[in-house]
Amino acid sequence: MDCIFCRIVAGEIPAEIVFQDAEFLAFHDIHPQAPVHILIVPRAHIASMNEVTDRQKSLLGKLLLTAKKVAEKENIAEKGYRLTINCGPDGGQIVPHLHLHLMGGRRLADLMC
Ligand code: 5GP
Ligand code: ZN
Repeated sequence: MDCIFCRIVAGEIPAEIVFQDAEFLAFHDIHPQAPVHILIVPRAHIASMNEVTDRQKSLLGKLLLTAKKVAEKENIAEKGYRLTINCGPDGGQIVPHLHLHLMGGRRLADLMC
């Protein structure tokens, strides 16, 4: 298995896990861009948004709702946060396993880059 996030899901690589259930794992980003920077990943390997199909509508919905729950747990819900999914090289995706960035804890700049 050469996917780093699959290896985190499998427990082969340590991560600071903040939430997990049957479908998702949420853990702190190793290079945080904000005081709170958490990645929410499906346990199943999906390479990117380009690989998501109509049959995974429910998974996508649950991914967003999981982020909302984690934001509440991390006490950033009230002040607000940003959710980002990078896709492909132009989107700045480095790790080819679908993941949602949850960032907050400070006022984020208008531009993402
Ligand atoms: P992308 O650019 O693919 O949307 O974001 C990948 C994110 O994964 C980056 O913010 C990067 O810091 C994070 N990351 C890469 N490798 C690891 C790792 O081994 N552990 C953790 N916790 N985060 C990682
Ligand atoms: Zn994977």
